[in-house]
Amino acid sequence: MLKMNPAVTGIEEEGAFFVLDRALAMKAEGHPVINLGIGQPDFSPPSHILEAAERAARDGPHGYTSPVGIPELREAVARHVAARYGCEVVADEVVIVPGGKVTIYFACMLFGGAGAEILYPDPGFPPYREAIKASGATGVGYPIREDRDFGFDPQEVLAKITPSTRLIILNSPANPTGGVVAKPALDELVAGLAGHPQLAVLSDEIYSHLVFDGSGFASLMQYPEMRDRVILLDGWSKTFAMTGWRLGYGIWPVPMVEHIRKLITVDHSCVNGVAQMAALAAIEGPMDEIERFRQTFMKRRELVVAGLNDLPGVTCRTPGGAFYAFPNIQGTGLSSRDLAQRLLTECHVALVHGDSFGENGAGYVRLSYAASSDELSEALERMKQFLKSV
Ligand code: PLP
Repeated sequence: MLKMNPAVTGIEEEGAFFVLDRALAMKAEGHPVINLGIGQPDFSPPSHILEAAERAARDGPHGYTSPVGIPELREAVARHVAARYGCEVVADEVVIVPGGKVTIYFACMLFGGAGAEILYPDPGFPPYREAIKASGATGVGYPIREDRDFGFDPQEVLAKITPSTRLIILNSPANPTGGVVAKPALDELVAGLAGHPQLAVLSDEIYSHLVFDGSGFASLMQYPEMRDRVILLDGWSKTFAMTGWRLGYGIWPVPMVEHIRKLITVDHSCVNGVAQMAALAAIEGPMDEIERFRQTFMKRRELVVAGLNDLPGVTCRTPGGAFYAFPNIQGTGLSSRDLAQRLLTECHVALVHGDSFGENGAGYVRLSYAASSDELSEALERMKQFLKSV
């Protein structure tokens, strides 16, 4: 009998990828599947980015780069973040990684380990929970509440801190809810964290460019008193429609960077040079197409929220950001898992059951509206017919 590491064998696969595989298999069999399961923009990256990648594929860099990223790219990211949030950022704090997920994994490796506790949002992006587990630490979920427009109660988060807590993971705008943490809630949390100077915070802001009117998004980079213990996670995947390119960045306090650099040399050496040159073109180039993506998502959000609220047994809040809706389906009488399963097999609409995002996600499903308006309307119609019949 082979003896494998239970920290690895105990990891659960992310539900959205499981649904993606099933949806693709059904599509290949000829079923008219509409996939609202996976969270990725349905656009192509702007052409100046593709041209930069073409040039780099021809002219290089072809070899390894610095583990933490090409210096010009680190500088460009530092300028970009500093300009967005009106804070000081230097290139030495920037670490380029193959996808936003890697920053999560490395932060959990750095602060986790046996005996450590890490706080994470529930419902929340599943890799938080699994990366915490893989590091050997104990994950402690804090509730994300529908009645707070899918934000958290800062006092409830602070009350979960114990002497073993080393890291708190925050996510705004959020997956799976689309919730944006309102600035007053962030202010209150930051004020409370002043009493816990030993705690680091990973602020996952990968949807920061997809914030809709009036949602009141604030970045943790805007709190100077937190800068020596905040890790910012952002990247290219969602903003520039580059999920498959595997590109992300973290802004880490400089004393943490040397450790992350070592982890990179053990793990993947560096991000491939072509992708880094494309990333440089993206972050230094015009943002008008990105704004068009945002406007398109905002229109689809209206369509989806109205359509969901029109379904029997379903209610849906208007999400402040990202491209997800997280409707409450408790009135349908079906569990999230049954509903998602039956919608896929009987109506060919793929979405993700809410409890795959944590136990507080039971009674909800996640629907990604990164699909055309026609597909969204058709999916809503199929869901309506199905729910009328159950
Ligand atoms: N953080 C959140 C909240 C996400 O939803 C995702 C992707 O779905 C990521 C991080 C990871 O993004 P990437 O594809 O760049 O690894």
